[in-house]
Amino acid sequence: MRRNFLKILGSYFLGFLVYPFSSAIANNVIGYNTKLSKNEDEYNIINTDLTDEQKKIMFDEATERAGSSILNREKREGTYHCANCGVKLFESTAKFDSGTGWPSFTEAIPGVFKTKIDYSFGMKRTEYHCANCGAHHGHVFDDGPNGGKRYCNNGLCLLFIPSS
Ligand SMILES: [Zn+2]
Repeated sequence: MRRNFLKILGSYFLGFLVYPFSSAIANNVIGYNTKLSKNEDEYNIINTDLTDEQKKIMFDEATERAGSSILNREKREGTYHCANCGVKLFESTAKFDSGTGWPSFTEAIPGVFKTKIDYSFGMKRTEYHCANCGAHHGHVFDDGPNGGKRYCNNGLCLLFIPSS
């Protein structure tokens, strides 16, 4: 058990170190090899096309590997939506390159997230969930550009809709 925890912890921090080499790693979600902690019908799964990786992040609070999301490189105008329920969460104008390897935004559409304090990995962080469906999306920090926020979002939880 302890060994497993250390392994997960190790791969979490390794995510920062091995980026940009992380695309060579076979699976993209930390904690993916473990099963969902509840039966699927106990989760609020609205999009029945969600992959196992997406479910693991959105409902069991796993994290995708840094640098693994194609949305890191997405620069088009458009909107970012919850991959589970479709609610609009971010405008492309709020997106910026944080250098962390996860899609990052300075602000969210008002009222779309609920937050709670997360003490995992020995850190105190503010995690946020879709207020509409409850799906976990990421963590929000106060170190964004120009004194703003930094919403650090798992790309697999987002659906990008280009405006053109
Ligand atoms: Zn949602």
